Amino acid sequence: MTLYAGVALVAAAVVLFILQPVVKGIHASLDRDDDELTETEARKRVALLALRDVEYDFLAGKLDEQDYRSLKSELTAEALAALEADEASKSGGGSDEALEAEIARLRAGLKSGTPCPACAYTNADGSRFCSACGHALAAAVAG
Ligand SMILES: [Zn+2]
Repeated sequence: MTLYAGVALVAAAVVLFILQPVVKGIHASLDRDDDELTETEARKRVALLALRDVEYDFLAGKLDEQDYRSLKSELTAEALAALEADEASKSGGGSDEALEAEIARLRAGLKSGTPCPACAYTNADGSRFCSACGHALAAAVAG
């Protein structure tokens, strides 16, 4: 029984020890390249995966109930904090979407715009004269 408790403690310590660099590593990689996962999403994912592992370890008899409860409450708190932070960042952010929409609008404008026959400048739809050289635009005359 003493041996069992010792093994369980070591297992819990190992889980915590392994989690530390994983969390730090994800944060570090996000600093360099954050187009896949946001920091809060990564935190949420790590916490949820860790919770699942704790659950499995407990069911497999690797954790005693005391360790299980303390680990679970700790990880649940972390997961909830990450979830809240994630929701907050989603509702507050969206700068990428705004940028994408602006780029799409500009591309659509270039496609549907009227090119000047004299200088090839692409004018906004409905322009009567070229914004660059003042040449009359055929499309406006026809329309
Ligand atoms: Zn022109």
